[in-house]
Amino acid sequence: MSKVIFPQPAPLREQLKNHYLRWQTCRDCSLGCAANRHVFYDYQLNFKEQISVMFIGEAPGLSEDKIGKPFVGRSGKLLREVISQTDRSLGWLITNVVACRPTDESGNNRPPEPSEILACRVRLTEVIHICNPLVIVAVGMIAQYSLPPAVCGNPISWLTCLHPSYLLRTGGKSHPQYYDQFYGVIDNAFETAYNHLKVKAATSSQHEVTLVCSDDYHTSRELRNYHD
Ligand code: SF4
Repeated sequence: MSKVIFPQPAPLREQLKNHYLRWQTCRDCSLGCAANRHVFYDYQLNFKEQISVMFIGEAPGLSEDKIGKPFVGRSGKLLREVISQTDRSLGWLITNVVACRPTDESGNNRPPEPSEILACRVRLTEVIHICNPLVIVAVGMIAQYSLPPAVCGNPISWLTCLHPSYLLRTGGKSHPQYYDQFYGVIDNAFETAYNHLKVKAATSSQHEVTLVCSDDYHTSRELRNYHD
């Protein structure tokens, strides 16, 4: 009897690259014509090439439009800093509900219109399906209310954090209440994913399942100063 071989899905990097190639010239809404660059995502995989936590913000701003990466301005640096302090070596990806920068008549940033969010939802839903994250974090209220409803049941957890630009406007790290809240949600996102993977590793009958993150984190976190 011949052996049935099921096709393996392409590695995540390849799937994301193909997704990028398919969408890089998108003009499904007017934002695509005005933008300098389409800004899709930035990510860091764990050693098993997985993404556990996905962050979805509102829209690219001036710096992102210039560079072509999400969250690279001042507020993005704050988000990335907290991710690097809490990620427990898990894989993560950051993106936005729209991939092209919305601007007003004076060329300043503006929130995306509902029609633009809807136009870009197909792209966002594809990214979520490719990454299949355990936890999704909406970065800011606009992102929270703009996420695709069709995928709401898939991740084990949905969270919302303050937008880092709001945090900077209200004092940044010197506003402990907001900063702790912001930090706490991101920490919780990675902790939730970490615990889920730990249980999965412990209960799996497959011997090759390995714990996907470092336990050193739990020692080092006790030593870390949250507000340095
Ligand atoms: S914002 Fe999204 S839907 Fe609109 S042009 Fe850019 S990629 Fe396409």
